[in-house]
Amino acid sequence: MDYDAHFRAAVNAVHNEGRYRVFADLARKVGDFPHAINRRDGKEHPVVIWCSNDYLGMGQNPSAIAAATEAAQTYGVGSGGTRNISGTTHLHVLLEKELAGLHGKESALLFTSGFVSNDTTISTVAKMLPGCIIFSDAMNHASMIDGVRHSGAEKKIFRHNDTAQLEELLQSAPKDAPKLIVFESVYSMDGDIAPIADICDLADKYNAMTYLDEVHAVGLYGHGGGGISERDNIADRITIIEGTLAKAFGTMGGYITGSASLVDAIRSTASGFIFTTTVAPPVVAAALENVRYVRTHNELRVRHQERAQALKLKLTAAGLPVMPSSTHIVPVFVGDPVLCKRATDILLEQHGVYIQPINYPTVPKGTERLRITPTPLHDDQLMNQLADALCAVWRDLELELAA
Ligand SMILES: *Cc1c(COP(=O)(O)O)cnc(C)c1O
Repeated sequence: MDYDAHFRAAVNAVHNEGRYRVFADLARKVGDFPHAINRRDGKEHPVVIWCSNDYLGMGQNPSAIAAATEAAQTYGVGSGGTRNISGTTHLHVLLEKELAGLHGKESALLFTSGFVSNDTTISTVAKMLPGCIIFSDAMNHASMIDGVRHSGAEKKIFRHNDTAQLEELLQSAPKDAPKLIVFESVYSMDGDIAPIADICDLADKYNAMTYLDEVHAVGLYGHGGGGISERDNIADRITIIEGTLAKAFGTMGGYITGSASLVDAIRSTASGFIFTTTVAPPVVAAALENVRYVRTHNELRVRHQERAQALKLKLTAAGLPVMPSSTHIVPVFVGDPVLCKRATDILLEQHGVYIQPINYPTVPKGTERLRITPTPLHDDQLMNQLADALCAVWRDLELELAA
């Protein structure tokens, strides 16, 4: 048996669909974000990063760098174990307190990533409740889909943000069955927002729990950066709020927040939490500093929204097919995986603009796009350069302009 032939065939299939992924080799420089150096073909090329999920540039926040440096020098670079076996530092305790406070919940639990927090928590909660039915939005992130799958529970998928269909599904489920509704606040590929209050109303009516992924909203919405649930003043109606430290908070790690009993149950039984070495002290220190910083610097959020709005207007005025988005995400429609990849290659090689193509399975086939994420550090001049570059590429490839 030629095992490698199977692996090559799998990669060839991806190639043939035009969605083979190439990672850009980037070197950012603190103080210079969003500028970076891209190494390719044995040379160094200056580029502007337009697709980072470090939405506020907090990855280079000087006070977080100082906190990480001090933690490394004080505690070392590794955590040395799982939380149960010597891995819990005082910084972990402080960070979880801070995160619980961010969402106004009794408790928080730190995971090694947002992905792990979703997969582990959703699967564990549903397993703990025999007969549990999970109601899951059709556009949920892969980590939530994995969690639903790994729970082994019965699942009902409702059309994206469709509360009427969600209600039908809730209504047709046995009245006494435990129910869990899993959804996101900001959907990161379209930039739209869930009708959270309506979903909470349904949860009340049918006695269901709610699990909200705020990964693309924490740090960015709400007066203290507690996400859309804070902005809309409904965090107390959500059973579990999940977030990441890897996007607006600029570091790494994921977390859940909820009631003390729920969090204690996950802490005590979830293998994805128990059997893995916890986040290293320098990262925990940086995350703690950035969460505190972002909570108290609302002007970052104001500027972030203003920049996103400015870019949407600029690209729309240039005739580019900007997809409707009510958030900081600026998707531009391409509709073909090969052209999408080609467009981003030209942007990188001829214009020094780095945007990763977004192809299937991240988005449905036929909706391939560029996903642009302006930060407070992308100024008007960079935006003008981007608009010019995009227009040039649209002409080169004869892509469709806005209707
Ligand atoms: C990125 C992402 C995650 C995973 O978070 P990480 O901390 O990067 O693992 C979870 N949910 C959504 C919606 C995401 O986009």
